[in-house]
Amino acid sequence: MSADLNIDVQKEWKLFINGRWEPTASSYEIVDPNTTNVVGHAPEATAAQALDAVAAAKAALPAWKALSPGERGVYLARLADVLEEDSDAWVDTVQAETGATLKIAATMQVGGPTIDRFRYYSSIPDLNESLMPQPVGASPLGPAGLISAAVHRQPVGVVAAITPYNFPLTNVAGKIGPALAMGCTCIIKPAPQDPLGILLLAEAIEKAGFPPGVVNVVTGSGPEAPAAIVDSPDVNMISFTGSSMIGSKIYENSGKTMKRLLMELGGKGALIMADDADVGKAVGAIATVWGFHSGQICTAPTRVICHRSKYDETVEALKGVSGFLKVGDARADDTLVGPVITETHRDRVETFIQSGVDDGATLVCGGERPDLPGYFVAPTLLADCTPDMHVVQEEAFGPVVVIMPHDGDDEAIAMANNSIYGLYSYVFSEDQSRAYRIGQQLETGNVGLNLIQPHMEAPFGGYKMSGVGRDRGRWGLEAYSEIQAISWIS
Ligand code: NAD
Repeated sequence: MSADLNIDVQKEWKLFINGRWEPTASSYEIVDPNTTNVVGHAPEATAAQALDAVAAAKAALPAWKALSPGERGVYLARLADVLEEDSDAWVDTVQAETGATLKIAATMQVGGPTIDRFRYYSSIPDLNESLMPQPVGASPLGPAGLISAAVHRQPVGVVAAITPYNFPLTNVAGKIGPALAMGCTCIIKPAPQDPLGILLLAEAIEKAGFPPGVVNVVTGSGPEAPAAIVDSPDVNMISFTGSSMIGSKIYENSGKTMKRLLMELGGKGALIMADDADVGKAVGAIATVWGFHSGQICTAPTRVICHRSKYDETVEALKGVSGFLKVGDARADDTLVGPVITETHRDRVETFIQSGVDDGATLVCGGERPDLPGYFVAPTLLADCTPDMHVVQEEAFGPVVVIMPHDGDDEAIAMANNSIYGLYSYVFSEDQSRAYRIGQQLETGNVGLNLIQPHMEAPFGGYKMSGVGRDRGRWGLEAYSEIQAISWIS
């Protein structure tokens, strides 16, 4: 057992392939970013084992897709029930591998959002449609008549879910929930840093009684196993969430087998403050970059574009708030800013901050390394930034905010759109109709007006380098389907 967490560090974790627990020849260490202690050893899947998982998913597909949506929904509802009973016991493991603070681990990493997604997709609407009959004249193709058509949504087939480290369980649930509901079978390849919660999910899937091969889990530290999955002609779709860099590679490699793709990639969320913005509300929203999983969120409002008339007040207010956010032991009740995921990532974020300073930004707060055993970055604000700076253009995926002044709505919109990313942006104005008009001109898949929380059934996804396709709600179901039209003479 680890010193202060209820984790069996010696547990022999195995891959979950075709309903069986498969050992691997080697394993790799899972490190708690809060303490740097080793908290487990994850199975290192070979490319051959990844392909075994693909074969199992392919073999399970015909029977799974032959079930009715209602029959598949029974399995998903049972899985939600199992998670409700069992997943509280996973909090320590998932907290240790993700480095999440106590509150985030218990409420966001494990439990609620994951269970909700399986429950939501346990009952799905009928997505099939029939078209109005179409009159056709006589032609060499046939006699005159009325042609009717039905438009069916068929499961896309074998889906590989390749996921990032920040919210492992909710991300996987957001992919396999709709995929399974549509009649697809799945291979999950979680992020190398924190796969143990996903292996616990596989235990829950086994307990819920899913047929062998419908869901398979392969873990590993390197790119070999996921690359083999991407190259396999037996995988019909990749549902990927992760960096735009790896996403581009997958996009390119998937072309050879013409895979369907759902790509949820990086972001550099702009938050526009108009001259009538409520500074307190906006500052509360911006501070979530620091206080919510140490800024390791693709949708975080990390790029603040603030009207010049409110600029000094906003910088001062952010500086004040940063002083109240306790950085420290993720296990302590009052900690708001925990560690980032690895030593490499901490170093990368530090280099990122230094590049801003070197380029002429003003370091208002943060920047120093906290004197703590884990991989911590203090809440950091870089002011007086200019649009072309590296820190303004690239994502840090850490607790780092950049702020720039603007002189009017049109300039703010142009600055917000000056990005290779287009995932989420935010507009703060006390005039909702003005905020709405600004929002419509932003090149991002999602826009929040005077709020930071998403609508969990609204379509979610990115423009530009932030991705391809949409998930959540019924858009999630559509993403895992092929469209088939059947026509006949009425
Ligand atoms: P990452 O791109 O480093 O890794 C994601 C996954 O890709 C991992 O499972 C990894 O093993 C796998 N992978 C690595 N090489 C591969 C290859 N050659 N072929 C196939 N798969 C391969 O991302 P990360 O560091 O885990 O997560 C952070 C990134 O994810 C950030 O860029 C963040 O913005 C993004 N993200 C996006 C969303 C969204 O919904 N748009 C949500 C969360 C995170």
